[in-house]
Amino acid sequence: KAKEQGRNRFCYYSDDLEHQFKQRQSVEKLIRTSIENDKIEVYYQPKVALGSQKIVGVEALVRLRDTNNQIILPVEFIPLAEETGLINALGESVLKQSCYAAKEWLDKGFRIKVAVNISAKQFTDKNFCNFVAQTLQMSGLPSELLELEVTESALMEDFEVTKSMLNDLAVLGLTIAIDDFGTGYSSLSYLKLFPVDVLKVDQSFVRDMMVDSQSMDIVKTITSLAHSLSLLIVAEGVEEKQHLNKLIDLGCELGQGYYFYKPMPKEEFDKLLV
Ligand code: C2E
Ligand code: MG
Ligand code: MG
Ligand code: MG
Repeated sequence: KAKEQGRNRFCYYSDDLEHQFKQRQSVEKLIRTSIENDKIEVYYQPKVALGSQKIVGVEALVRLRDTNNQIILPVEFIPLAEETGLINALGESVLKQSCYAAKEWLDKGFRIKVAVNISAKQFTDKNFCNFVAQTLQMSGLPSELLELEVTESALMEDFEVTKSMLNDLAVLGLTIAIDDFGTGYSSLSYLKLFPVDVLKVDQSFVRDMMVDSQSMDIVKTITSLAHSLSLLIVAEGVEEKQHLNKLIDLGCELGQGYYFYKPMPKEEFDKLLV
């Protein structure tokens, strides 16, 4: 009996593995075909000045669409894209679309800064900086309207490589934001060593700050740290009015979250610009 059970369990387990394997294969195929057919989609989530709630920028967030026309979120495919090296082509598509979009908005009279997420893997691509420079030039977007968002952990992967890459990028005139700030466990000294302009307070701290005094303390500390280093601060995950009020109290300049806007396709964002 035990043997039978064991065998059943084994069968179940192997089905599960097979399922996972197939799932990965189909996601990888979707990434590949989306790249080949120019079907990488970019959603834009507005960033607002907390005081006036005026839109000052957007974050570009990649989306894929499966064969049933359903939107697939980054959590489902970014790790696999990183493992397979497809992140480079995917990231290039996002950067390109973002620069052209922001140039279009600028031509309509709206200075909207566009922030693009960059994986650590892309930093190891020797050609990355050239690609950014080329894309800025081709699109005609002034470099001060481009921001690159990098996580703390991505910065720490290879200190020397990252440092020279960030310096080369900063020379282009774009800005660098540290994403999910406070969730990495690196020393703060890199803030002096790297050309960083913006800290994005991780959304977990903003979400919990009204119910958990530690999260509140972290948001306060990050805000005062940013101010003393003359860095701009963006609060992520602003979902409620009380978050907004508290963040304004703390002197936090910019915010992003469902309270203001969700990520949306470009056509929808275009309609907000009037
Ligand atoms: P992130 O860069 O920290 O982006 C913020 C995420 O929080 C987005 O999820 C956004 O939709 C979500 N969000 C915004 N406001 C709120 C809110 O008020 N409440 C909650 N609960 N969530 C909110 P999304 O689009 O699913 O992206 C997830 C992550 O995937 C991003 O986190 C980023 O790390 C990564 N990612 C997205 N696009 C790209 C890309 O083009 N390249 C790379 N390498 N990574 C990307
Ligand atoms: Mg981001
Ligand atoms: Mg700078
Ligand atoms: Mg984040």
